[in-house]
Amino acid sequence: MMRKITFRSLLCLAVLLLSLLGLQTHATAQSQIVITKEFDYIEQGTVGIIKVVGTDLAGGVAVIFDRQYPFFPTSQGLACLISVDMSQRIKEYPIKVTLYQVDGNAINWEDTVKVNAGGFIAEPSFILPSNKLNLLNPVVQENEDLRLHSVYGLVTPQRFWDGPVIYPLNGRIGSPYGSVRTYNDGQSRRHTGVDLSAGMGTPVAAVANGRVVFARDLDIHGNVVVIDHGWGVYSSYSHMSAFYVVPGQMVLQGDIVGLSGTTGRSTGPHLHWEIAVNGIWLDPIRFARVKLPN
Ligand SMILES: [Zn+2]
Repeated sequence: MMRKITFRSLLCLAVLLLSLLGLQTHATAQSQIVITKEFDYIEQGTVGIIKVVGTDLAGGVAVIFDRQYPFFPTSQGLACLISVDMSQRIKEYPIKVTLYQVDGNAINWEDTVKVNAGGFIAEPSFILPSNKLNLLNPVVQENEDLRLHSVYGLVTPQRFWDGPVIYPLNGRIGSPYGSVRTYNDGQSRRHTGVDLSAGMGTPVAAVANGRVVFARDLDIHGNVVVIDHGWGVYSSYSHMSAFYVVPGQMVLQGDIVGLSGTTGRSTGPHLHWEIAVNGIWLDPIRFARVKLPN
């Protein structure tokens, strides 16, 4: 006997299919909202994107790892970049998302996010020359971290760039992101960016469009330029022998911001490239593969 297909059973089937696809739907009086995790898990030092498709959305926030991650407008709705620290414990975390509609209605959504290992390595000891040993002072390190994080922590809602980020120069990876490095005095420290090999004076390009927010000489990073790309995404370029940009200046992807060098806590010419998202240092190489929603 053929079973009559009712509207209700079709609706159940649609919801079941969407659940199987990892999608969550919220039917509201005004519109249909679809929330998608664009990942199965997020590795330490990388970013996972949560996409919202729908209309009449004013904004939103995701809360995970005791941090808040804002949603930004896209052509289809909203998107949020969940950046995961290299030291985040490997386990499954609850995530709470609150979306706001233009009429003031709030939509709550809860799920979990699994954090997987970033696969970081330990490097051979770094031997700094005697004239740079003061750069191993933890107070110098702490002050510089605080200073850069006061820059990286600000979120510009406008997105200046589109498309994937490029490498700032052509060089092999001399030292990967997240590695554990030990210096002369036995102190160990995690690598907050990636080192690209480059001879003295190699031009360094902006990896994406953005606004220069920092350009000066720091003890450890040496001559460093920081670019704000919007949506809480920053790139920085360290140990340069010279820089050609000033804070406030808009740059386009590929514009030369300076020349590689060995200023600061460096043992030879190279480029230390960092990417920070929502105040967290990520692996620039893996970030360059991220496809952002339009
Ligand atoms: Zn480095």
